[in-house]
Amino acid sequence: MSDHRWILSFAPGATQGSAELRTLLGAKGAGLHEMCRLDLPVPPGFTITTEACTHFFAHGEQWPAGLAEQLDVALDALQAASEQRLGDAQEPLLVSVRSGAAAAMPGMMDTVLNVGLNDVTVGGLAHRSGDARFAWDSYRRFVAMFGDVVLGIHYTRFSRAEEEFLAGRDITGLSVEELKALTARMIEVVSEYGTEFPQDPREQLRCAVDAVFRSYNSHRARYYRKRHGIDDDAGTAVSIQTMVFGNMGEGSGTGMCSTRNPNTGKPGLVGEWLPEAQGEDVLGKSEGIRSLLPRPDHDRPALSEALPHAFAALSAAADRLETHFGDMQDIEFTVERGELFLLQTREGGRTAQAAVQIVVDLVEEGKLTRDHGLCRIDPRQLEYVMRPVIHPTAKRKVVARGLDASPGAASGRVVFEASECLEAHDRQESTILVRLETSPEDIQGMTVAAGVLTARGGQTSHAAVVARGMGKPCVVGCTDIHVDYARELFYAGDSVVRKGDWITIDGGTGEVLDGRVDMVEPTADTGALAQLLLWADEYARLKVRANADTGADARRARELGAVGVGLSRTEHMFFQPDALRAIRRMILADDPRSRQRALNDMLPIQRAMFVELFREMDGLPVTIRLLDPPLHEFLPSKEHDVADVAMDLGVRPEALLGRLQQLHESNPMMGHRGVRIGVTTPEVYRTQVRAIFEAACEVSRGGASVMPEIMIPLVSIEQEIKVMRSLVADCAEQVLAEYGVDIEYRIGTMIEVPRAALMAAQIAPHADFFSFGTNDLTQLSYGFSRDDMGKYFPEYQRQGLLRESPLAVFDTQGTGQLVQMATETGRAAKPGLAVGICGEHGGDPVGVGFFHDIGLDYVSCSPYRVPVARLAAAHAALGVL
Ligand code: PEP
Ligand code: MG
Repeated sequence: MSDHRWILSFAPGATQGSAELRTLLGAKGAGLHEMCRLDLPVPPGFTITTEACTHFFAHGEQWPAGLAEQLDVALDALQAASEQRLGDAQEPLLVSVRSGAAAAMPGMMDTVLNVGLNDVTVGGLAHRSGDARFAWDSYRRFVAMFGDVVLGIHYTRFSRAEEEFLAGRDITGLSVEELKALTARMIEVVSEYGTEFPQDPREQLRCAVDAVFRSYNSHRARYYRKRHGIDDDAGTAVSIQTMVFGNMGEGSGTGMCSTRNPNTGKPGLVGEWLPEAQGEDVLGKSEGIRSLLPRPDHDRPALSEALPHAFAALSAAADRLETHFGDMQDIEFTVERGELFLLQTREGGRTAQAAVQIVVDLVEEGKLTRDHGLCRIDPRQLEYVMRPVIHPTAKRKVVARGLDASPGAASGRVVFEASECLEAHDRQESTILVRLETSPEDIQGMTVAAGVLTARGGQTSHAAVVARGMGKPCVVGCTDIHVDYARELFYAGDSVVRKGDWITIDGGTGEVLDGRVDMVEPTADTGALAQLLLWADEYARLKVRANADTGADARRARELGAVGVGLSRTEHMFFQPDALRAIRRMILADDPRSRQRALNDMLPIQRAMFVELFREMDGLPVTIRLLDPPLHEFLPSKEHDVADVAMDLGVRPEALLGRLQQLHESNPMMGHRGVRIGVTTPEVYRTQVRAIFEAACEVSRGGASVMPEIMIPLVSIEQEIKVMRSLVADCAEQVLAEYGVDIEYRIGTMIEVPRAALMAAQIAPHADFFSFGTNDLTQLSYGFSRDDMGKYFPEYQRQGLLRESPLAVFDTQGTGQLVQMATETGRAAKPGLAVGICGEHGGDPVGVGFFHDIGLDYVSCSPYRVPVARLAAAHAALGVL
């Protein structure tokens, strides 16, 4: 095992790794090696592989045999090449020790800079740089960082000691002697903690590597992996790299940039830099931050003005990297006395809107093929492209303005602690997390907040980067607000906003608005998204329909590319006053005559709604489901409403109460619903069928092409569908004969009860189509109630029994068996049987992939998820996992 390779070295033009070795070198390591292959200016170093890290954890935190020796060899080579030595009093080698797993986990693990500084080498650094202040300032930072990251002494102990030492003065005003004294104080803080600050640079290095390994298993890193479904066993690589100094006086600085705008996707370098700064100083700061190119709203010099050579080198490198990787890159850089160094390149973080724009642009620029472009986008991201924005005519009372960090608008109650977001989420309340700035500890809260607002930070601050990744509206750097945590409020101009007050943030404009504001849904019928989806349709086999109950829903669905309505839930039509009144009268009717009278009143209302649906879907199929929910859902549930409703209907309250008792269900989801209503009160279904066909005839006479499909819910017995088929067909033929119109129609059934799936061969001969109701089918296959599982399911997730709710992410293993079997046996019994699915999983990429694989004809989902389903269908056809 000792000749196993644990370390790969890199230097411009001479490197042992490449981007392909990402699993072994981590994303950051692989990027450094690849940049060296391109001969770009990267400070030389070497990478300890992720395998060494997994060995470390598997063997009680011991290094694998051979690693220590290989580290010595790599270090010798680095020393020889740089003509510097670790611990040397004249020419000390200083290195950074940087984490980097294969899957990006931004900000989740640790890094230690300036390793190699001690009481002796600080003199060498002062001599080499000709700047003793700089050398002692670096040493001071190193002791605090090492103390925090490696020795586990909380950083506040160092910052408190520093504050006491400064006693209100600014650190930049300290003399060299004072900086020495401050460094000594930092070393003292370490001793007070009961340990000694190691002066031996090799020991510093060993301990720093261990600390970086360990940071892979920190609480926040584990949480991040869980949330992003990243394998816990992959480990992190450790890149050890010669230090370059962005804080070496004038002509130096550090920054980050993206090769395209991460918010909009527009081409062109954007980013920020901070002069005379080091490492991650640029993160989380808004003060002193500068842009790369001059901006009208910035008066401080941009990088292109202050350091034009470095800027030109950065632009050239950025172009080269983007073309090489065929994707937008995020690049970290440092300029040391005018000379540019690249410290990291990776696929750039971006909003969903930007992701779509970038892929479409790259394909059109010829840098990416269509199929590769389609595969670059996670279908779930498209839900964020469809995020609501503030209604253009809504009244906007703007109380503050910050930076537009992540688009989309969100309203919520103000909270100041991430933990409060979690509590509010449990109560199903929407929150906006307001902080001075966020840190990785806030991630869980941010996950459930509707939006995030920070007083500090730039476009690359923690809040901005994390919110963008989550697709969550976010405003940062909002210096207009003054947050008072102690009193749980913030001031914004003349306004005082307290915890619990409603605000709205607009992550697209950076505005903070008072109260809740009307929103509008964006459209996908123009621009990059429409183009991307047209490409997706070229590959997809599975058709995408929408679940739409009204004409307006249907229009929206059609705009978003749905090729039919896969489910129209007729019950939703009854929630407008006239319709509700009619159905209530029908439910309360004591005899067939008064029931028929109520039904007759229902008929025109329904017919009008079906007319709208058919008109909107001219030329496309429309599946209409006959009444499904238990009838008590249409009656008042609260006692104090009973008298009002009774009066409105002209019946005695006792009569209404009596009916309510009769209709009471112990298990409403398994109650008197679905086809059971058709069996017990066939006149209800007959009226609906009449309304559908009268509407169809009317619209057809108007010149449109109507394709009605009548669907029976909750069938589990062959006889049920047999009886219902003849009921529907008789009634349809009668109406068509009355109107003298010939319309082709289909009669089918939902498969949403496990027995229906098991009896598919018997049911199929009576149906023209099957549509899987995977909401009910999942509920009934687990025995989890759709309405009540919130009571226990979070505990299942906490304990890791199930990661996602099967009602959100399709259970391919269990419920999937029922769907697959019923499809196969149904089609065997009835060749040409059309099969689709209309549960929520029609818009779930996991479900869509599965339904493609088992050969379904279509999925149907809510209109806003149509783009998600279209792209997921293309992914499935392209074999993307
Ligand atoms: C289903 O059960 O999947 C379905 C589409 O019907 P509903 O959600 O209305 O019960
Ligand atoms: Mg159902």
